[in-house]
Amino acid sequence: MRRFFVEKIDAEQTSFSITGPEAKHISRVLRMGPGDRFILMDGGGARFLALIESAVSREVRVFLEKPLPEPPPSPVEIILCQGFLKSRKMDYVIQKTSELGVDCMSPFSSERTVVRLKKDTLPVRMKHWREIARSSAKQSDRAVPAQIEGLVPFNELVAKWKEEDSLKVILWEEEGSKDLKGLLRGSSIKKKFIGMVGPEGGFSRQEIEVAEDAGFIPASLGHRILRSETAAITIVALVQYEWGDLGLENSR
Ligand code: SAH
Repeated sequence: MRRFFVEKIDAEQTSFSITGPEAKHISRVLRMGPGDRFILMDGGGARFLALIESAVSREVRVFLEKPLPEPPPSPVEIILCQGFLKSRKMDYVIQKTSELGVDCMSPFSSERTVVRLKKDTLPVRMKHWREIARSSAKQSDRAVPAQIEGLVPFNELVAKWKEEDSLKVILWEEEGSKDLKGLLRGSSIKKKFIGMVGPEGGFSRQEIEVAEDAGFIPASLGHRILRSETAAITIVALVQYEWGDLGLENSR
């Protein structure tokens, strides 16, 4: 069954009007009409079985037949702190880690960040990233899209998590003794994970020390040096595999 996202569904109402590009998409592109059904969701987790009453390109009116249960959330909360990347790579990381069930993506700028973003373009980019998270949620049937935080400096982000006592890992290709697999398997609490992935240029030794001071554990992903975006997707997939629902055991 097709799924569509809208801003907010008022659960008290039994009918709903969809306008804008989504209405056009439903009526013109997909040629859906009265009597057809789809799932209508909002960003807050509401989801309904919707029956089309009328459909023209500027407005699709639906009857909300019944609320549907949410897919169960992953048993692990994953926060990905991502070194800021060139635009297409950033889009890619958001799309792929969203599909893999990241809860929050928090971009940061650091010593070796190569892309400099003009201040006034940031809101546009943020909006774009949130759109990507939304469409990823739609396609992968997530109840709530990944949250995208604003861009902050590395030190500020590290300081923000200082008091947090869940497993906090900073991926570092020069780490010689600890790896992600060992940390994930050895952790006694497997509920919340905060991972840091460096930008294209990686982290400086000093940044690793600052992160360690705040409780982040430097960890290796093996001897191959991965591109930042590959490392980001890998870390989320591995946490979901070890602690979460990348499989059927903790899934639906
Ligand atoms: N500057 C480095 C590579 C940076 S890779 C160089 O050119 O040699 C970008 C980011 O991906 C790193 O900051 C790290 O967080 C992560 N990463 C890539 N490969 C990794 C590995 N084998 N182990 C741990 N982290 C890795």
